[in-house]
Amino acid sequence: MNIDRRLFRLIREEKRPFIFSAVSGAAASILLIAQAYCLSRAISGAFIERSGMAGIVPFLGYFALVTLLRMLCNWITHVKAAEGSIVIRERLFGRLVSRIADLGPLYARSISSGRISATMLKGVEALDPYFSSYIPQIFLALFTPLLIVAAILPDDWLSALILLLSAPLIPFFMIVIGKSASAVTEKQWKSMSRMSGQFLDILQGLTTLKLFAQSARQRKSIEETGENFRKATMKVLKIAFLSSLALELVGTIGTAIIAVSIGTRLMENRLSFRQALFVLILTPDFYLPLRQLGTKFHAGMEGVSASKEIFAILEEEIAAAPVRPSVGAENPETGGIVFSGITYAYPGATVPAADSVSFTIPEGRTTALIGPSGAGKSTLINLLLRFLEPSGGCITYKGTPIGEIAPETWHNLISWVPQHPHLFNATLRENILIAMPGASDQMLQNALQDSGLTDVVQSLPRGLDTIIGEQGSRLSGGEAQRVALARAFLKNAPIIVLDEPTSHTDPELEALLRSSMKVLTKERTTLIIAHRLETIRNADRIVVISGGKITGSGTHEELIGTDGFYRHALHLLQEAAA
Ligand code: ADP
Repeated sequence: MNIDRRLFRLIREEKRPFIFSAVSGAAASILLIAQAYCLSRAISGAFIERSGMAGIVPFLGYFALVTLLRMLCNWITHVKAAEGSIVIRERLFGRLVSRIADLGPLYARSISSGRISATMLKGVEALDPYFSSYIPQIFLALFTPLLIVAAILPDDWLSALILLLSAPLIPFFMIVIGKSASAVTEKQWKSMSRMSGQFLDILQGLTTLKLFAQSARQRKSIEETGENFRKATMKVLKIAFLSSLALELVGTIGTAIIAVSIGTRLMENRLSFRQALFVLILTPDFYLPLRQLGTKFHAGMEGVSASKEIFAILEEEIAAAPVRPSVGAENPETGGIVFSGITYAYPGATVPAADSVSFTIPEGRTTALIGPSGAGKSTLINLLLRFLEPSGGCITYKGTPIGEIAPETWHNLISWVPQHPHLFNATLRENILIAMPGASDQMLQNALQDSGLTDVVQSLPRGLDTIIGEQGSRLSGGEAQRVALARAFLKNAPIIVLDEPTSHTDPELEALLRSSMKVLTKERTTLIIAHRLETIRNADRIVVISGGKITGSGTHEELIGTDGFYRHALHLLQEAAA
């Protein structure tokens, strides 16, 4: 019957509007019977019993009143169901957002962003007909026909029996057709979701595609996906029309049989005109809710298909942090962050990206992490930020394994300044304030000052209230990084994780950026992925990583005397600077 257990659980959590909707739907059905009764009395009074105006007018009056009340009940039924649908969808959307946040940025990167956004927007939207029409209709399709049978039973048991016997044909057809429809609708949903993903991907990479003269090929591929989607949609429509036809047929044939049977008995005087009219008025209304259920079944099915993607995200496992004994307690440098034997391999990888990595980031000092591309630097940062969970070893902060610290508490202790910070399509003020939404104006001004953004703000047309556009398109790379620094100054966290910019922009701006970074990292526990000789030299400690393993650590003076990557790297950096 297309009632997904997980979707039904959502209704149970928010049942009040649905109960209201069901009660007023039931009241509308009772009023429908009253309407048929008043009408049959009025018509039979006028044409058969010839009871005059006094016998007709009261029934016409009741009929008008009952019609008004029924309209009101129908309105409440729809409004309440729509209200329930809105509340559930809002809640679901909120859960999806927080789930994706819990799963972390690596999950968001692991599946296409187009698929996520299609699920979050279209998927949640597709549930509206399921909750606001399909579920209330299931109740009405069960309640109203039974009520009509009970109402006509005293007057005409034969018609009641015909209705009861023909009714199961409708659910039977629905199930037979629904079985094939389910697979087709799912295919349609998947191809829509694939198309959104592909479209977004192409849109984001348009510049690259243009430069490589690949846009025509991509257009063809989009055309193919679009054609598949069209075919899937046509199949769904074909099945929907077929099912409507079958259901109409059952309803029409049922009504015809009853009309013939009533007509015969009327002629033989085995049934009064009022009784016959009452039954005949109600007969189409017996089939109507069942036929409507058939129509809404397809809209409901789309919701069920969409919900599979939604629940796939909601039920995605978050890698549980293995709790390990605190090893940092024995370490003399327990004040800082200690990596002890950290191992991590990406799913499917044969070699670990971090292989028994052990090193210390001393409290209040700056540690530079250096190594060639692909050495495992970002992996270590993601492990430290807890976006990845190690398969072996332990990271401790002040002696406590970070796995034992609540993720929000841990993230509150860290400011992360990436090379390419994400800027939201919002004002500059909002982009900075995400670090501390309740910050005072003075705090914000200080952060702007410290990060060297004051001049940038003055040059913007609306200052802090300028929308900096999607991906911060109005800001240069250096300015975007200063926004990330402003966020870090505002957050004022004790730990800083910084990915030093590699791009050599304007030397003056670069010096400004570096001096801001110096202020930010002063007396804070800092891990910096360093690319510049000066940064490496000035660090209190240097850790060298290569192929996922630590190949050296110490101060500049200590490392310079040793062979290996550090000397080689310094040589390369010096060459680059020359
Ligand atoms: P670095 O930051 O030093 O350039 P990374 O930590 O990004 O290095 O990468 C370390 C190794 O892990 C590389 O061999 C890289 O190919 C691999 N790697 C990085 N990210 C992923 C991922 N999401 N899935 C699979 N392998 C990855």
